Amino acid sequence: MEQSFLAWLKGRVRGLPAVAVGIGDDAAVIDLQPGCQLIATTDEIIEGVDFLIERHAAADIGFKAMAINLSDLAAMGATPTAALVTLSLPAERSTEIAAAVYEGILEAAQRFQVAIAGGDLSIHDGALAISITMLGQVPSGQAWLRSGAEEGDCLAVSGPLGGSLVGRHLRPLPRLDLVRALRDQAGLRVHAAIDISDGFSLDLDRLCAASGVGAEVDTAALPIHPDAVTRAAESGRTPLEHALGDGEDFELILAFAPDDWERLSQPLGELGLHRVGTFLGRTGLWSRGERGLQRMLASGYIHGGRRNGVLPPSRGDSSDSAEHPEPEVSGP
Ligand SMILES: [Mg+2]
Repeated sequence: MEQSFLAWLKGRVRGLPAVAVGIGDDAAVIDLQPGCQLIATTDEIIEGVDFLIERHAAADIGFKAMAINLSDLAAMGATPTAALVTLSLPAERSTEIAAAVYEGILEAAQRFQVAIAGGDLSIHDGALAISITMLGQVPSGQAWLRSGAEEGDCLAVSGPLGGSLVGRHLRPLPRLDLVRALRDQAGLRVHAAIDISDGFSLDLDRLCAASGVGAEVDTAALPIHPDAVTRAAESGRTPLEHALGDGEDFELILAFAPDDWERLSQPLGELGLHRVGTFLGRTGLWSRGERGLQRMLASGYIHGGRRNGVLPPSRGDSSDSAEHPEPEVSGP
């Protein structure tokens, strides 16, 4: 199957100038812009763990496999260059499934301007798995890390949160547009960033832990997606709880120096950025209530067990509700 499929694929793949040699040789050759560092990330999704092939369109699964990797590049402030795609295919209907998955992969490649530079196909006695290694670049020394947030920095989020399971989780849109817009702001420095794959509060907690800081979250300022309201109507949880704890928003959490935030206030509307809090010297996540600062529990999905993937949890599913956020009763 591999030779004929690769010939088909080669005819479908569009090159990008940065890919000097793509599919067809032993390895790809990629030009890096001078003064840039290579950013590399990989993520795999597996049938039965992250999606069900009978329930979800193969093209959606392919698109999502690309988008989740591109979101990790966006979180680093990177521009995508090329993807390496490995499909492990079940023996039955392997060519048909590969072609259908690739429809979504190629759609994402075109939409987000990334070349498919190579990969692998294998048929096995097992489930469909899609593993993508995504390559991108940043100006040297300017990758956005999780570890750079400082006390007093503004905490910002790039768009409305919650309820992705209503449908957006099938076609996530990595915020590469925002990366470009922020890179175009001369002199602006993003102190830290992370993408929201597992839930705003859980991913914010990870960023805080990496930076050795805490954060005060202004929950009234948190942009709530209409899908969170839809989910809340059937889950018995509030839209805010969905915004804080649902996974797969694939928006970015960012830390800016206060001066930089002031400078950004002009193009804020266009960028879709919302200020939702401040980073603190003390650790932990906090929200301000009637009795001062109250501790928030980080909530969200832990990947590796079962992802909040294309698999929607059944109603009342404990993995959906077990970790939902509740402010601790005691204040500081
Ligand atoms: Mg990430």
